[in-house]
Amino acid sequence: MTTTQQNNFAVDGHGYYGDFGGAFIPEMLYPNVKQLQDQYLKITQEPAFQQELQQLLRDYVGRPTPLFLAERLSVKHGVPVYLKREDLCHTGAHKINNTVGQILLAQRLGKKRIIAETGAGQHGVATATVCALKGLECIVYMGEKDIERQAPNVARMQMLGATVVPAVSGSKTLKDATNEAIRDWINNPVDTHYIIGSVVGPHPYPDMVARFQSIISEEIKKQLLEKTGSELPSHVIACVGGGSNAAGAFYHFLDDLSVQLVAVEAAGCGIDSGMSAATTQLGKPGILHGSKSLLMQTDDGQVVEPHSISAGLDYPGIGPLHAHLFKTGRATFMSATDEQAIKAAFEVTRTEGIIPALETAHAFHILNELQFRKDDVVVICLSGRGDKDLSTYMKYL
Ligand SMILES: *Cc1c(COP(=O)(O)O)cnc(C)c1O
Repeated sequence: MTTTQQNNFAVDGHGYYGDFGGAFIPEMLYPNVKQLQDQYLKITQEPAFQQELQQLLRDYVGRPTPLFLAERLSVKHGVPVYLKREDLCHTGAHKINNTVGQILLAQRLGKKRIIAETGAGQHGVATATVCALKGLECIVYMGEKDIERQAPNVARMQMLGATVVPAVSGSKTLKDATNEAIRDWINNPVDTHYIIGSVVGPHPYPDMVARFQSIISEEIKKQLLEKTGSELPSHVIACVGGGSNAAGAFYHFLDDLSVQLVAVEAAGCGIDSGMSAATTQLGKPGILHGSKSLLMQTDDGQVVEPHSISAGLDYPGIGPLHAHLFKTGRATFMSATDEQAIKAAFEVTRTEGIIPALETAHAFHILNELQFRKDDVVVICLSGRGDKDLSTYMKYL
């Protein structure tokens, strides 16, 4: 669009990043969303809120997570490759940074009941975890098909005390679970908070979740300065499902234009295979889950079922911030196929002794595709650990 937006990647007063964002919601949700829009910045910036959040991030989540120099990968690629170890967070991924923040917000809004939607179950587990911690009722909507496919995560949520409610309409997957959660919220506007798990949904969710995840880049800057003498790397690489770990890893570098931000989508069986989740390559502007962004759709606007070997990247859209970063060229969008991700996962495991989540493995593949210069410094956001993906990895042993 206009060049004046080029250096401004923050959300505007109406919840837009350039052309993308906003709050496209049923009228009956308006009071809930309006309350959040009016309150989220005020509450989250209160000193007492920040103090409680920082304490939980330190003592419960395990922050700061280390920034690890992966020596053997560095030798292979001829540049220092640092791994931001979100895999070491409590529950095994970055998602808890956001659920911890939102549960504290929900408490201050006087909410007694938490709802969430989940696909593979990772966000459901992170939500059930913080609800157990705070003693709040937790209801997680999950597609009936996903409940069958993700039995261990369903068991975790139940052990944590959450009620897992099957969504039985449509394709019985994530989008149907989201519809059920929205229906619940409409019916319980006063006592319920809806914890969305990525930088998607109506304003203020994309900005709110990005702020909670921005602790990732805040720590990277400090840690890099300590280790290299400069807080700026040449590249920050992160995988993108909805885009929350990438938003967190990019956040404090958005206005440092010398830092190349690389977002990695899932190409599935190949971008042109019809079985992919490469939203920026295949998507068009449209409205999904309450905001305007890029999404994979048919000519008449029906959402196309995405495919990726990793459940966390198997999403037909991306958050509006990422659509804006794509459109303005601030971030470079690349992709890795299922096969490339598997190969990268085994390589990282055997050179660094770290089994990455399948989602993160897509980001690692991109090391093979980028051309580096001698004094480049690369940071990869290691969004989660791979224990949850063992049944997939076992097929390739
Ligand atoms: C959920 C998940 C993702 C994808 O979600 P984003 O919102 O794009 O970060 C990536 N990695 C892991 C480990 C996940 O659990």
